[in-house]
Amino acid sequence: MNFELSEEQKQFQQTVKEFVERELKPGAGQRDKNGEFPWTEIRKLQRMGLFGLIFPTEYGGGGRDFTTYTVAVEELARADASVAITLLAHTLSAGHINAFGSEQQKREFLAPLVSGEKLGAWALTEPGAGSDAGGITTCAVRDKDGWRLTGNKFFITNGSQAQTLVVMASSDPSQGAGGISAFVVDGETTGLTRGKNLEKLGFRSSDTVGLMLRDVRLPHERLLGEVNRGFSQAMQILAAGRIGVAAMAVGITQACLDESIAYARKRQAFGHPIAEFQAIQWMLADMATELDASRLLVRRAAALKDQGRGYACEASMAKLYASECATRSALKAIQIHGGYGYTRAFPVERYLREAKLCEIGEGTSEIQRMLIAREMIKTVQSS
Ligand SMILES: Cc1cc2nc3c(=O)[nH]c(=O)nc-3n(C[C@H](O)[C@H](O)[C@H](O)COP(=O)(O)OP(=O)(O)OC[C@H]3O[C@@H](n4cnc5c(N)ncnc54)[C@H](O)[C@@H]3O)c2cc1C
Repeated sequence: MNFELSEEQKQFQQTVKEFVERELKPGAGQRDKNGEFPWTEIRKLQRMGLFGLIFPTEYGGGGRDFTTYTVAVEELARADASVAITLLAHTLSAGHINAFGSEQQKREFLAPLVSGEKLGAWALTEPGAGSDAGGITTCAVRDKDGWRLTGNKFFITNGSQAQTLVVMASSDPSQGAGGISAFVVDGETTGLTRGKNLEKLGFRSSDTVGLMLRDVRLPHERLLGEVNRGFSQAMQILAAGRIGVAAMAVGITQACLDESIAYARKRQAFGHPIAEFQAIQWMLADMATELDASRLLVRRAAALKDQGRGYACEASMAKLYASECATRSALKAIQIHGGYGYTRAFPVERYLREAKLCEIGEGTSEIQRMLIAREMIKTVQSS
């Protein structure tokens, strides 16, 4: 497997990098402080085509591969992870419609998401069911006119801003996870109430809300794919999503390393730049090595996906390693910055708050370890 980016991918990376330096980096700290949704920046990225990057050109998408997408996510997260996660959640919803929607659903709902006209959200988690997603209780009842959805969703990224939402609900509670279906819901639908942005440790300018669905009426044509196939669809969407979270973690780690090197060169102690002390050098060396390992895991998972091969286990490995590496690196970055690292004068404290979420969203580290171990045991048993 060759992990070198193609010329086209490198050019694209450069374009995103320049945008990020110019448009995202300068205001990221302030946006985090104010907790404002970054609509100005998102609109610019939508106009650049980033919100439709990997989707088919026939629906207005960029037709690019998944590796290119991970490169974009990494660059965005390097400056502002709140912007990166907005793209990740949007991509879950657009990806779900693209993979399982009918031609009509793709024309009606995917095309505006891909063109950047609309923003998407993807709602699986509930107040009582996160890791145990098969235990969701939002119910979908079918009658002659279509479906009626009732229940609560929680922690939904883009939940109050999105115009199009993909919502998982139990259409046959007796079947547990095997009785879940997926629906596409217009943000304006009667009966859908969206909560206020949650007060979070990090990702403060990203939108994370609870949703209330009270007798939300949907026509039959809003069911995505087959009835009772929603859980298995969601697991497939999450597998790809995890590569995105891993790429976001790589971006945060890169930012930690960049800031640490710059600071270590400038900061003087005992008459020397602290970069000359071995204790500091070892932290930088560990960060750089783990960053490389994380990025390679992301590239491998993305390459497998691009080649149409199985990638779920590799996606979990990439997410597990890259997200824990981001937290370790952010802690080291703060240590290298000394007391200043503990203040808002430098962005490294924000990186720590952002890194931690990568270990939780789209399946916690514990769940990734469980999935990887299951795969290993299966492989050993069948060999
Ligand atoms: C900022 C943010 C954005 C999010 N965005 C979205 C979104 O857009 N859409 C969406 O649907 N969800 C979203 N989520 C939800 C996220 O995916 C869940 O928070 C996550 O899956 C964990 O679920 P939970 O919070 O219910 O924790 P729980 O499942 O209650 O877990 C609590 C603890 O128990 C551990 N645990 C649980 N089960 C096991 C097990 N079998 N073995 C070992 N340990 C276990 C967990 O690892 C964790 O440490 C978001 C969450 C956050 C914080």
